[in-house]
Amino acid sequence: MGLPRTFSWLLAGLGPGRAGKGARRAHLYVRPVLPSAQTHHDVVVVGGRLAGAATAMLLARAGLDVLVVDRGRSAIDVPSTHALMRSAVVQLQRWGLLDDVIAAGTPPVRRTTCTADGQVTTISIRPSYGVDALYAPRRPVLDRIVADAAVRAGAELRRGTAIHAVTRDGAGRVTGVEGRDDHGRGVVHGARWVVGADGMASTIAAAVHAPVDVRGTSATAILYGYWSDMTGDAFEWIYGHDACAGVLPTAGGQACVFVAAPPSQVGGGVVAMHELVALASPAHARRLAAARVPPTCVVAAADPASSAGPGVPAGRS
Ligand SMILES: Cc1cc2nc3c(=O)[nH]c(=O)nc-3n(C[C@H](O)[C@H](O)[C@H](O)COP(=O)(O)OP(=O)(O)OC[C@H]3O[C@@H](n4cnc5c(N)ncnc54)[C@H](O)[C@@H]3O)c2cc1C
Repeated sequence: MGLPRTFSWLLAGLGPGRAGKGARRAHLYVRPVLPSAQTHHDVVVVGGRLAGAATAMLLARAGLDVLVVDRGRSAIDVPSTHALMRSAVVQLQRWGLLDDVIAAGTPPVRRTTCTADGQVTTISIRPSYGVDALYAPRRPVLDRIVADAAVRAGAELRRGTAIHAVTRDGAGRVTGVEGRDDHGRGVVHGARWVVGADGMASTIAAAVHAPVDVRGTSATAILYGYWSDMTGDAFEWIYGHDACAGVLPTAGGQACVFVAAPPSQVGGGVVAMHELVALASPAHARRLAAARVPPTCVVAAADPASSAGPGVPAGRS
């Protein structure tokens, strides 16, 4: 399979002609400028977080030559995919990665509580499908575990590479991707298959004109932080009329405490956190007031298209 036919061309200048002895007839010529990096693979996966890294790991384990590119240089905390439900834990177990999550200090969660109108319902996590607990690893931990597994399986991972387009052959079939690496150099990665795992504002989906089946808008934003004295052995979900909240025990003796509320209400850092948790559940607000305050709370953007970003520091209270 040849390299993708996406040469960029540069008007190189005036060069000396060779029309005859001594002749110096100037003429215009163009010179193809190859991108500074061209590679070719069975599969290029754009986006190296959970979806992309897991896909790359499975394809590499199946024997394919896989390249993963991600514009981010390192994994960051995000509240999405923080509380792993049974199906996610089962997958990690089957892939041989659950032990790594546990070894990272992620505590087992053996109960779920739901609080609504002051009524608490408790559900125990029954052992089934080889899983007797749920987990809430922080995303940098989980993303690294899955990405490392992809690399161990033989996939190549290139961080700091932003893809901006797909390449196509004369028939219009996608033949790879092109973008820039973290030194600003152009790159072209050819592939038999391109996988877009680049989040909700997917460049790849747009480039291949993927049809939109459902388009939604978000009514809430999430404010979250890590408290040191709110731990337990339960995922706690709290449903109020004007705000919902949750407590997710994670590593390091910390729990992620979050509230979901209208975007206009979540900008006030730890103070807003206390007010919103009190709206959802006064009992949880009392626990929060007695716990050690984290240095920052972070707003996860209300716009779904920005959800792969770092969030907006909301400051100290
Ligand atoms: C608020 C919220 C809460 C959620 N909670 C849960 C939950 O509790 N449980 C659950 O199972 N799911 C949850 N989800 C859904 C879950 O987060 C997503 O399904 C999952 O994160 C998708 O992972 P991903 O790897 O596909 O994309 P992302 O995590 O969005 O990662 C995309 C990656 O692609 C990279 N990228 C993007 N564009 C480019 C480009 N042009 N070039 C190179 N790289 C690029 C980014 O840097 C990023 O690393 C939640 C989602 C949200 C928004």
